[in-house]
Order: sequence, then structure tokens, then C-alpha cells
Amino acid sequence: MNIQKLIRPNIRSLKAYEAKEIPCRVKLDANESPYGFPEGLRALKSIKTNRYPDPEAKALKRLISRDFGVKSQNILQGNGSDELIYYLITTFGGPVLYPVPTFSMYGIIAQAIGEKKIGIPLNKEFDLDLKRILEAIKRQKPKVIFLSSPNNPTGNCFSSEKLLKIIESTLSLSIVVVDEAYQPFSSRKGFLPLLKDYKNLVIMRTLSKIGLAGLRVGFLIADKEIIHEVNKVRLPFNVNSLSQTVATELLKKRKTMQSYINVIISEREKLFNELEKIDGINPYPSEANFILFKVKNADKLYKGLLKKSVLVRNMRGVVNGCLRVTVGTNEENRIFLRALKEIITDEKT
Ligand code: PMP
Repeated sequence: MNIQKLIRPNIRSLKAYEAKEIPCRVKLDANESPYGFPEGLRALKSIKTNRYPDPEAKALKRLISRDFGVKSQNILQGNGSDELIYYLITTFGGPVLYPVPTFSMYGIIAQAIGEKKIGIPLNKEFDLDLKRILEAIKRQKPKVIFLSSPNNPTGNCFSSEKLLKIIESTLSLSIVVVDEAYQPFSSRKGFLPLLKDYKNLVIMRTLSKIGLAGLRVGFLIADKEIIHEVNKVRLPFNVNSLSQTVATELLKKRKTMQSYINVIISEREKLFNELEKIDGINPYPSEANFILFKVKNADKLYKGLLKKSVLVRNMRGVVNGCLRVTVGTNEENRIFLRALKEIITDEKT
């Protein structure tokens, strides 16, 4: 029997998101936080394993609503923001427009759902190519536009003026999702204050980058009509009791969370300065918790680092000749830098 014949063509040609577990001592490949919150697990004692989770995640939303100054009716919870990307494309359909390179799941999910993808290359500065995007909007009328700012994997924020022009030019035409997964690490203002002015704007956030990746909690903030519609496609119990309980408990500890974020930002600056000093390495400035850097022989360096048990992300096929390193603890960053320098020195001799 040929199973392939039964698979929808868009799925047959789809390449799954690569998320391999590669054993290593220093794990700097997935933009996670090096700081976890084991104390949050104490709250699990109150969980009733025989009961379904709160389908509306009320307690969790209450805290998000307090932190972001929005009402619960403007929030939609997801099993990570990945799931919310699915829900948004399911609700609004395609074409789906996004810049390239960016977070790969926008394209993977659009294709999985069978919607057309429009990828517009970023310019040389990794900023949005406004002219081409506006042309594509006019000609191809995308229903959803994903803009990750700060952008993964380039690390920069897009120009706010350009982003605003896109939002303004698509009023009543498209939904513009500003994916602020890395906003906690950015020195630039986020787009939340603009929500009241633009009904087609959706802000997407996640707890994954600030120490809770294992819980899978993301959320949308948007106009209540958008939330109401997207909520129709949400699976009833998409965020499980364990995640709801622990995330709620930890969001009460905003100060501790913020202090870890501050450490990561200062470690990022140190790491950037050190990378800049190394001959043959060109790091790109970052507003996120990772740094993209150009090297002479990316594949060789990637393998060399892995041999020394340091795992980074090889961006081959996405930004050729580049590696992406997540900012770790001071010690992890030092191990990474030492390994990098050793490999480069060995190459020269
Ligand atoms: N958006 C961006 C820009 C990301 O880089 C990631 C994770 N790599 C996500 C969303 C997905 O995050 P989550 O863990 O909330 O699904």
C-alpha cells in the first residue's frame, strides 16, 4: 500500500520543523532562558488530575490582563504561540505574508493548512522591504501578515514607521500579527499601545523565552471581536492544568522574572562585544536573547562546537554562512566563547 498517495500534496511536500534533541553540555540553540523556576512546581499540589483544566484559563488571563493593562476579553491563550499561529491562519485563511528570513512556523503552518505563502526578502539591513511588501499586499491581498519584531533569527526590531505603514495600509484588508516573542529583551517600544487605534493589529506573546518554555503558554492580545472569532477554532482545553497553574504562580513573581531578563540583556551585550573582537566573526546587533553571527565556514564551526559539547543553531538554508547562539548564563557564554576561539586558532595553525 502506498500511503504517500493518500497524503494531501501540501503535506507531502512539507518539511517538518526541525527540533532535534542533541545531547550537549551547553545548550544554546533554541532561544530558551537559562533560568528555570522550579519553585513554581510547588503549586502543582493543588491540581485535580481527574478534572479538565479551566477551558478559559481565567486565573492566568487575569494576571496577563494586569501585567499588560488589557481586559481578559482581549486575551486568547495558546499552547505556546505556535498553536496560536495555527488558529490565526485557520480563522482568517491565506494568503499568508511574512518577511524572509523569519520564524519558520508561519510558513510551515500556512502550508499545512493549505494556504498560499508569500515570503518577502528583508533588505540588507534585515529590515522590512516596505515597497515590495506594499506591492504584494496590493496584488495578492494577504489575509494574515506575520511580523516578528524582534525578528528571529536576525535579532533586530523592524522599523516602527514601516510596520505602522503596513498596519495602516491593510486596515479592513488583513490582520497584522506583531509577534513579540522577544520583546522582553528589547530596548524598543512594543506595539501594545497601538491596539486601541488599529483594529487589524494582533500582538502575539509567549512565556517560552522568559523561563517557561516547557509549559507551552502563549497568548494573543487583540480587539475583542478578533479574540471572539479566533476562540471558535481553539481546542477546548488547549492549555493544560499543570501549565495554567505553574504559569499563574510564576507570573505573580514578575520582579524575579524581570531580574533574569535583565541579566540576559547584560550578558547579551558582553557576548556581542566578545564576538566582535574575534577575527573572522561578524555578529549582528540583537534586541533578543540570541545573537546571529556570520563566520567563514559555518558548517565546520558548528560541528567543531558540537564536538566540544556546545550546541548552537546552524542557519544553513536560512541565512547562509551564519550561526545563531542563544544567550546563556555567564558561564555558558564563556564556555561557548572559549570553544569558538579554540576552533578558530586551531584552524589557523
Ligand atoms: N515566535 C517566534 C518569533 C519564535 O522564535 C518562537 C519560538 N522559537 C515562537 C514564536 C514560538 O514560541 P512558543 O514556544 O510560544 O510556541
